[in-house]
Amino acid sequence: MKPQGVAVLGSTGSIGTATLRVIARHPGRFRITALTASSNAALLRQQAASIRPEYLGIANPNGDSDPGWATGTDCLIAAATRADVDIVVNAVVGAAGLPATLAALEAGKRVALANKESLVMGGDAVLRACAHGRGEIVPVDSEHSAILQCIGRRTRAEVRRIILTASGGPFREWDAARIASATVEDALNHPTWRMGRKISIDSATLANKALEVIEAHYLFGLPYDRIDVVVHPQSIVHSFVEFIDGSVLAQVGFPDMELPILYALTHPDRVDDVPARVFDPSNASPLTFEPVDPERFPSFALGVAAGIKDGCAPAVFNAANEAAVALFLSGRIEFGDIARAIASTLTAIDGLPSNSVADLSAADLAARNHVVGLYRL
Ligand code: NAD
Ligand code: MG
Repeated sequence: MKPQGVAVLGSTGSIGTATLRVIARHPGRFRITALTASSNAALLRQQAASIRPEYLGIANPNGDSDPGWATGTDCLIAAATRADVDIVVNAVVGAAGLPATLAALEAGKRVALANKESLVMGGDAVLRACAHGRGEIVPVDSEHSAILQCIGRRTRAEVRRIILTASGGPFREWDAARIASATVEDALNHPTWRMGRKISIDSATLANKALEVIEAHYLFGLPYDRIDVVVHPQSIVHSFVEFIDGSVLAQVGFPDMELPILYALTHPDRVDDVPARVFDPSNASPLTFEPVDPERFPSFALGVAAGIKDGCAPAVFNAANEAAVALFLSGRIEFGDIARAIASTLTAIDGLPSNSVADLSAADLAARNHVVGLYRL
């Protein structure tokens, strides 16, 4: 069998580099034909030297790129729609990943989707592109991979509800006042996962879990009242599926993104691979579960409410969160301001049209401008 061509968008990030490690173990099955990064030319150069893909793109080169590399944001779409690409791993962070998700699906590709913001900002448009182009979306997010694996060949009608697990992040046991003034270093110190900076902050506010609830709504076609969340600090149970007969299945393992990445490439097949840490139940115990506290983690409640409200609200939530997280990471606002900025934006930017991707981009921009305006001196 000819190896499948893979484009890795965001190859220099946490998921991108993990994807390259996974694919390096399966050279007969996959061949990387395109890589793109935002601005890390040094790492992209190193990846190019060992992988030798046909296409290299750097979206924001800031003066550092090599001859032969494509430059500018269009390189994501160009990489995603190449004839030699069968699978697009979208490991870009943020709403910047949406155009490539749409283009890849319209071109009939399998999208191994880490970029959950694509589905949050443009869920309906992404599903339309998938149906129209006969593409396929397979989640990389560990919770959604777990759900996909548990559902197997069962139909949506046989699923009563899904229960996403959340680690609870670094502030699970902190009181509200201490959380409000947490530092960037505190917030980046995730207890069970090592990830990029934006998703690490989202995991500390629990905005990440709201994004994942919306992601699950679109991926599995379930209404919000059939999607629950439980805090599970050990990150061993990656999610649960409850079926109509009351049976509950879970997918478990030590936290490691390489398995969900590999599964997104091979689904529905399984291939021989060795996990970094072989599962051992006696080293995984105890497993504990507790409810989410929306009072201490208001970004979670705001995000789920935006999902239920639909229209432009999920795109506004996503953009306000991205803008506020960027301000927090650059030391301009406090941790507690992130949720305040999101709440203010959802109130101010309400009821905009959401019929097209252009509408959603306008709502996204209005939300970002609102957040910046809140803190302009
Ligand atoms: P990261 O910050 O480590 O990497 C992001 C990648 O995207 C980099 O290669 C960067 O160059 C590229 N990029 C960033 N902005 C870009 C832009 N404007 N245009 C083009 N490229 C751009 O992030 P990550 O942790 O790898 O997360 C990537 C995505 O995967 C996010 O949507 C995140 O929510 C999701 N995800 C990550 C994990 C994890 O363990 N890291 C787990 C589940 C889901
Ligand atoms: Mg996740």
